[in-house]
Amino acid sequence: MMTIAKGKKMLLGGKWMEKEETISVYDPQDNSIITTVPKASKEDMLKAITAAEEGAKIAENMPAHERIAIINKAADYVDEKRNLFAETIASEGSKTIAEAKNEVFRCIHTLRVSAEEARRINGETIAFDQMPGHENRAGYYYRFPIGIIAAITPFNDPLNLVAHKVGPAIASGNAIIVKPATLTPLSALLLAEAFDAAGLPRKILSVVTGSGSEIGDVLITHPSIRMVSFTGGLETGENIARKAGLKKLSMELGSNSPAIVLKDADIDAAVSSCVAGAFGAVGQNCLGVQRVFIEKENFDKFVRKFVLMTSQYKIGDKKDLVTDMGPLITEKEAIRVEQWVNEAIEEGASLLVGGKRDGAFYSPTVLTNVPADAKIAKEEIFGPVVILFQVNDLNEAIEKANNVNYGLQAGIFTKDINLAFTAIKKLEVGGIMINDSSDYRIDAMPFGGVKGSGLGREGVKYTIQEMTEPKIVNFKLG
Ligand code: NAD
Repeated sequence: MMTIAKGKKMLLGGKWMEKEETISVYDPQDNSIITTVPKASKEDMLKAITAAEEGAKIAENMPAHERIAIINKAADYVDEKRNLFAETIASEGSKTIAEAKNEVFRCIHTLRVSAEEARRINGETIAFDQMPGHENRAGYYYRFPIGIIAAITPFNDPLNLVAHKVGPAIASGNAIIVKPATLTPLSALLLAEAFDAAGLPRKILSVVTGSGSEIGDVLITHPSIRMVSFTGGLETGENIARKAGLKKLSMELGSNSPAIVLKDADIDAAVSSCVAGAFGAVGQNCLGVQRVFIEKENFDKFVRKFVLMTSQYKIGDKKDLVTDMGPLITEKEAIRVEQWVNEAIEEGASLLVGGKRDGAFYSPTVLTNVPADAKIAKEEIFGPVVILFQVNDLNEAIEKANNVNYGLQAGIFTKDINLAFTAIKKLEVGGIMINDSSDYRIDAMPFGGVKGSGLGREGVKYTIQEMTEPKIVNFKLG
């Protein structure tokens, strides 16, 4: 258990601030209080926006070499204190210490890539003379920062998903206000410490802690905010999109990702990829494998091996390096997952393994015979539950995989390049992995979904595109 005796402060408008009203941050494993964070009010959020208006002017005038140096220094800070960062993630969230260490490693990488991309925010010359009558014209466009970005982040990657917004925002000369997840604000505050220690002018970055439903509206509706960069659930995302008005929107939402296992697949490799993809981070992963479609020739073998591997999962203390899976983020979430599974069983699903809850812990669970219209087959479970479906062929698998309102990533296991290309063309997703599950990402690739999985792409370079606008320059020559 990690105990920080004193309450943490938030970085608001250039100052580290306390508030009389606080929010307790719990370790979901034993419900112990780790520390408290300030509970910001609407007035606090307005102060952060006013400061960011000044911060945006400072940021847009900072030369690239200064932005690069600051981001690299922040990355050094995270690297030097990587154990503290990992302990913080593994205390306030669901991740095991091994998963938390990996998130810190990725955060450092995200920041380094952000520093690199800051030197490549380029435009291009335009051939104005392509149009008759425009022979005496010359010009180009360059990209300028859009101003102030509102970043709203979820609990499940409390550090790296904040870095995915802060790194590119600073790299491209914007100011940014982060509203981290209420349940896991500590990692975001530590990242703010890293940028503060690196010498980032303070009004460029605020991390304001508080309840999303109370202070979120002020942030997303304010006319000075030029972009809302949101990562979280579909319902919250739709709610924000309705209210934000004429602003850029980046929406990284959820999914119930499919994996397709064809009859020529390497079954052992497919089983271990899909098990890891389904149960990593307790299934609280936007890329997590939720639905596996297996060609009938392999179904029984796949199921047998999948259930065996799942039943070997070690559930327990997050801080123990041998633990595979810790608790869900709250007991309430574990109860919701239990209810969804029980509802599916009542509707005819068969429980092959798992289905047991102990407080916030829920055992890795495998279902078959789930009716196609059951909630668990359509919605995002966001817990350690996977559904195995038998299919006749690839076409049936693709049709069923697409028959949901999500489309983030997918995986297909096959040795047949033609079948892989059919899946690449027909699956409605933002990314497809061949011979791996949907649960694959590096931080420098374009990442995002279609349908209810979101709008726009993250992945540093692609985030920078979204956080900047082209400005055309045209010379009328004599
Ligand atoms: P959530 O939607 O409940 O909350 C996300 C954030 O929104 C939190 O900071 C919350 O405080 C804030 N919020 C809530 N109501 C708000 C409001 N009215 N106005 C402004 N802000 C508000 O999501 P969560 O439970 O923290 O995270 C899980 C979800 O995030 C899952 O659906 C998961 O798939 C998704 N996710 C997506 C990605 C991706 O990159 N596509 C990555 C991680 C998680």
